[in-house]
Amino acid sequence: MQRIYLDNNATSPVLPEIVAAMLPYFGESFGNPSSAHALGEDAAAALRAARVSVAALVGARSPREIVFTSGGTESIHRALHAALARSPGLRRIVTTTVEHSAVLEPLETLEKQGFSVIRVGVDGDGTLDRAALDAALTDECALVTVMAANNETGVASDLTGVGALCRARDIAFHVDAVQAAGKMPLDVKLLGADLVSISAHKIHGPKGAGALFVRDGFALAPMFPGGPQESRRRPGTENVPALVGFGRAADLARRFVADEHGPRELARLRDRLESEIVARLAGARVHASRAPRIPNTTNIAFEGVEAEALLGALSAQGVFVSAGSACHAAARRPSHVLLAMGCSASEAAASLRFSLSRLSTDGEVSGAVEAVTEAVMGLRSLA
Ligand code: PLP
Repeated sequence: MQRIYLDNNATSPVLPEIVAAMLPYFGESFGNPSSAHALGEDAAAALRAARVSVAALVGARSPREIVFTSGGTESIHRALHAALARSPGLRRIVTTTVEHSAVLEPLETLEKQGFSVIRVGVDGDGTLDRAALDAALTDECALVTVMAANNETGVASDLTGVGALCRARDIAFHVDAVQAAGKMPLDVKLLGADLVSISAHKIHGPKGAGALFVRDGFALAPMFPGGPQESRRRPGTENVPALVGFGRAADLARRFVADEHGPRELARLRDRLESEIVARLAGARVHASRAPRIPNTTNIAFEGVEAEALLGALSAQGVFVSAGSACHAAARRPSHVLLAMGCSASEAAASLRFSLSRLSTDGEVSGAVEAVTEAVMGLRSLA
């Protein structure tokens, strides 16, 4: 059976050369980076190299600004709490309506604890209401947290000048760059961000590895006491093989973004997928098609079809996509992102996300178009 994987925003396959880079650290180079002997030094050197690579991916000034974590969710959680600990008197947090649950859920908890959360909206194309965002950045504000690119629609947020506004009012600025990293240029200096979260498994690295960029001079209290690792900011013996894989993934992702041909080719494949589906199927509509987007993502509504049924029919044909965020797959609620863009609940429940990767091919796009056309027509004929 064919196997066409178009769910790379959920997770991406670990590239063979990344697996190869990790393997020695499960085997002969198994040392603890804190050990004072040669094996320990070997692991510590590998960790230093990984930190340099991840720092370069986000444009950090120094590898010291990278704190390794278990992934995007942990990085985000640490960022939110570090920002709030910095200004205990301030109770206002600004975010958007289309963030990932890794941001929205901790903010809901904080709201119950008395913080006031302002959620800035987006328009029908998923474009952030910058006037509303800028107006919310008042002196009462402790933290602004905004995603660089949306996981469901791929829409890239216009964050121009947000860093400067935050700096002027001493507001902590966190960017969730989990989906942007490795797909679009990312530079923490240009963003003017204090904190930036990224994750290895979205860029062909292993699961269980992520990073929080923490601007030099910005305090990040330890998660809990327990040891000197990560400059006391995250205690516990480091996951050396995964972090080595993360470093290699960061190198490859940085090269991919720097060479304009790569992202352009990825966007061409994505655009081909969209245009052929829309040409073949009446009642298919691409969400956010006019907004600037990361090049690998499209989200398409199929009138008269339940996304869950379509996802199942495609899976049976070896085509793997998702309905909304993978984290919400079990909840089967219509996407909060599409609802925030003004879609009706029924259109949101008829929408699928296709997320390609730099491994995607024209052949796979053709196979996916065939499978989607057949599955949608089949489901419509049953209805
Ligand atoms: N933020 C965004 C935008 C995401 O898409 C995801 C995962 O899908 C996360 C955060 C959470 O990252 P992780 O799976 O590494 O915890």
